[in-house]
Amino acid sequence: MEITLNTPLTEFPGVGEVRAKKLEKLGLVRCADLISYFPRDYEDRRQVYSIRSAPLGQKVCISAMAAEHPRLSRIRKGLDLVKLKVVDQAGALHITFFNQGYVERALRAGEEYIFYGVVEEQGSRRTMVNPIFERVGKQNFTGCIVPVYPLTAGITNHLLCTLTQQAVAACAQDMPETLPRGVRLDHELAQAEFSYRNIHFPESFQALELARRRLTFEELFYLSAGLAMLKGRRGDVLGCAIPSRPMEEFLARLPFPLTGAQRRVMEEISRDMASGRPMNRLVQGDVGSGKTVVAAYAAWLAAGAGYQSALMAPTEVLAEQHFRSLSALLEPAGVRVGLLTGSITPAGKKKVRQALAAGEIDLIIGTHALLSQGVEFAKLGLMVADEQHRFGVAQRAALAAKGDSPHVLVMSATPIPRTLALIIYGDLDVSVIDELPPGRTPVETYVVREDKRARMYNFVRRLVGEGRQVYIICPAVEENTEGTMQNVEWEGDGPALDLKAVTTYAKKLQTEVFPDLRVDFLHGKMKPREKEAVMAAFAAGETQVLVSTTVIEVGVDVPNAALIIIENAERFGLSQLHQLRGRVGRGKHQSYCVLITNTRSVEAMQRLRTLASTADGFKISEEDLKLRGPGDFFGSRQHGLPQMKLADLAGDMRLLSEAQESARRLLMADPTLSQPENRPVLERVRTLFADTPDIFN
Ligand code: ADP
Ligand code: MG
Repeated sequence: MEITLNTPLTEFPGVGEVRAKKLEKLGLVRCADLISYFPRDYEDRRQVYSIRSAPLGQKVCISAMAAEHPRLSRIRKGLDLVKLKVVDQAGALHITFFNQGYVERALRAGEEYIFYGVVEEQGSRRTMVNPIFERVGKQNFTGCIVPVYPLTAGITNHLLCTLTQQAVAACAQDMPETLPRGVRLDHELAQAEFSYRNIHFPESFQALELARRRLTFEELFYLSAGLAMLKGRRGDVLGCAIPSRPMEEFLARLPFPLTGAQRRVMEEISRDMASGRPMNRLVQGDVGSGKTVVAAYAAWLAAGAGYQSALMAPTEVLAEQHFRSLSALLEPAGVRVGLLTGSITPAGKKKVRQALAAGEIDLIIGTHALLSQGVEFAKLGLMVADEQHRFGVAQRAALAAKGDSPHVLVMSATPIPRTLALIIYGDLDVSVIDELPPGRTPVETYVVREDKRARMYNFVRRLVGEGRQVYIICPAVEENTEGTMQNVEWEGDGPALDLKAVTTYAKKLQTEVFPDLRVDFLHGKMKPREKEAVMAAFAAGETQVLVSTTVIEVGVDVPNAALIIIENAERFGLSQLHQLRGRVGRGKHQSYCVLITNTRSVEAMQRLRTLASTADGFKISEEDLKLRGPGDFFGSRQHGLPQMKLADLAGDMRLLSEAQESARRLLMADPTLSQPENRPVLERVRTLFADTPDIFN
């Protein structure tokens, strides 16, 4: 049979209907699919041992001769044994195969084989169970580096190895070389054929590295090119031009002077909005850096030009907080501010919707409710998404679609390393607020074991005595769902039952520990009205201790809160802990963060100590990325980017910059990739983004 790239796998020996179905689950239908199905790991089977010299307890290759004909015995129904003794100059090895009756005919006395398996010793007798074996001189998967593929039920690694080997042997050279020659030479990348051969069956680990580098680069290159094209195309669309106004007019309304970073970002925004092209900007700033006022400024500009703005927040608590602070700031400036969340009564919603459609609201603040049908704007000019990493690309697009190419401003408190931000938000411009308002003292952070609990409660009492307020965060309510919120990682030791459930814990604190203080609790399962009341009471200083789940993680701002205690701290991710810590240190008082844990995991302790030792959100997020990987970091594909096969968006940062730079240069020379030599690039970009219609096509 002649195998070509297009040959269906059903034509490969050993692949029937059933196996073909299973292979299809892995995305494998044709020969070419096999060649681009990359191993997740490798086994080094190059070293071949003699029977006596083989190390015990690990998989090794042994070269030996079958000393007898294999003996088949049927122990009982469903249990066959094949036994065989093999020998070399100095030793003997006793091999047993379970339920592999065919072996009796496959192995011949007097022939030399390589056996791959684990050697064990019983007394002086060396044994091996169920090895893989090949005739010496006819070896495919012994004496070499062997790929380990991602599998599915019913498909063994051996089968995939066998199929892929045939595919690679027959047509690795036919795989198209899609990288432009210049790019390949500039970055010293291996050729396509070499790379495909060696990513599957590496001649050496050096060869594997070359292959991997080329294929990873390629992936990042097409990703970068696609995102850059998108950005380029945005240049053609017309947006509303919102004229700049003297910033002083806005500043006069603020109770504080701006930081240099805030001012710089506001100027960037003002320039974007006046340009006549739709703004698409990510404002990244650590917790407490003052992003809200930047958004307020943009809305003020829009309102001044007769345009409406929408601000979308990830939780009701946050939407209400924004509503309170922004009404206070902007209403006196003549900006009419409205609120739309899921918990507003139907009649109330209707009123807000009508006012929006009639242009009687200039700035609407809300949750996902803003996306629902029936929410229409008279003249939407600006859309702001707060804490954007919680919104998918699709949701952002859905809100923007309610206007005619409105300006888009995305605010994120999760500090993402810059290169990664450019990839994930590749079609956005990025501003960074890299300066905190003056007078903030860093939050003192301590990692504390359970046995110090009593002392910690004394500390709570002391701070409350000084007029401060305290948050206590628990990982979960009775159940661990939090509506639309991302969930806590369950990675710690100890059963979930150990978790300090919010309601019971709060009651216990109130009755047994702080009978004289006011303790309240907050969690995602409460009715929105209840949540609102609890938050309002805390903000007004009526409650002294607030026990809460992570619903307060995002953006909540109560400057008088000076201590946050996090129970079972090892169960939270680093970035999340940093967010939580950002709830304190917002006022003029020295603030504290206490991480309580009883973990025995060295790694978890390491993580908590990292947090205790630095306040730099960028450093923390880089650490987090290293520990958890970007997939986890952003939730399951929340960012809406195409899936990478090889590239690790956190780990391959250097290669990523190279690929980005290279894609940028290519697109400068040929913005639409229409020159014949760049066609293959365009094809690959299209394929890569085929599943991501929001971004491309
Ligand atoms: P975040 O970036 O986390 O959203 P906020 O916008 O909630 O931060 O601001 C945090 C706190 O800092 C708020 O109380 C806000 O009023 C205050 N703030 C913002 N900018 C300044 C500034 N330039 N000087 C002093 N306080 C500021
Ligand atoms: Mg905020």
